[in-house]
Amino acid sequence: MNLPRCLLLSVTIACGAILSVQAAPIKVLIVDGQNNHNWKATTPLLRTILESSGLFRVDVATSPPQGGDMSSFQPEFSTYRGVVSNYNGDLWSADTRKAFEIYVKNGGGFVSVHAADNAFPEWEAYNEMIGVGGWGGRDEQSGPRLYWEDGEVVRDTSPGRGGSHGQQHVFLMTTRDADHPIMKGLPEEWLHAQDELYDRLRGPALNLTVLATAFSDPKTKGTGNHEPLLLAIQYGKGRVFHTALGHDVAAMRCQGFATTLQRGTEWVITGDVTLPVPANFPTAKEVRSW
Ligand code: ZN
Repeated sequence: MNLPRCLLLSVTIACGAILSVQAAPIKVLIVDGQNNHNWKATTPLLRTILESSGLFRVDVATSPPQGGDMSSFQPEFSTYRGVVSNYNGDLWSADTRKAFEIYVKNGGGFVSVHAADNAFPEWEAYNEMIGVGGWGGRDEQSGPRLYWEDGEVVRDTSPGRGGSHGQQHVFLMTTRDADHPIMKGLPEEWLHAQDELYDRLRGPALNLTVLATAFSDPKTKGTGNHEPLLLAIQYGKGRVFHTALGHDVAAMRCQGFATTLQRGTEWVITGDVTLPVPANFPTAKEVRSW
C-alpha cells in the first residue's frame, strides 16, 4: 500500500501499537536566479545535500535574470518552513521584501549561503537577518566589522570596506560555540575544503552568535584576524543560519559544509538539531568529501 508519507503519522495497527511514525519531510524553498556565482550548478547540489538528510523536501524559486521584471518574483514563502538563499542580485520588489520580512519575523527559518550575504546592502531588515555582509558598497555605515579575538567577538567600528577575501585555499574551521545545537558534537577544529575565506564582514550584528571562525592568514592575502564564517541570528521569532562558506561546487562538496548546512537548516526550522554528525566528518588534519 502506498500511502502519502504524511498519512503514515496517523497509521496505527489494531492492537494500538504504532506501526510507523515517520514525519513528513519538511518543506524548504531555495531561492536563486541571480548570483555572481554559478547558481545553476550549486542549487542542485544544495538541494541534494538537504534532501539526502531525509528531513527536507526542497522546491526552488528562480527569479527573472538580472535586469528583468522583479515584480513577477513572488515566492510563497509562507508555505515553507525554511528558505535557503543562493541569491545575490537585483533588489526584490517591495511586496516580496515585505512578505519575506513578515515570514522570518513570524518564525520562518532562513539560511544564507555564501554570496547571499553580498545581496541587498540597501535592505535594512535583510541585513539584520544576515547579521553581517560584504561588498555592495558596505562600509562602516553598514555596522561594525566583526572578528574574533581572545575568546570573544570584537565589534570594530573603525572606517573601512565591508567584505573581501584572499586567495582560495583549504582552511581550518574553529568551533566557537560548542553548545549550540548546530555545533554540538562537531570537532573543535576541522579542515574545510578549498574555498574563499570571507573577511571584513560588516552589518548590524544584532542578536548574533558566532558559531565558528577561521584564521584569515596574511600569507594568503588575509586580514590576520579570526573571521566569523558560521553564524546564528535571531530576527523576531525567526532563526537565521548564515554560512559564509560555499563559493562553488567543490567547496560545497566538503562534508563539513554539507553537515553544517543540513544541521543549520534543521535548527532554523525547529530550534533543535537531530541530524547526527557523520563518521566521515572532516578532522583537523583531513578534508573529507561529502
Ligand atoms: Zn565566492
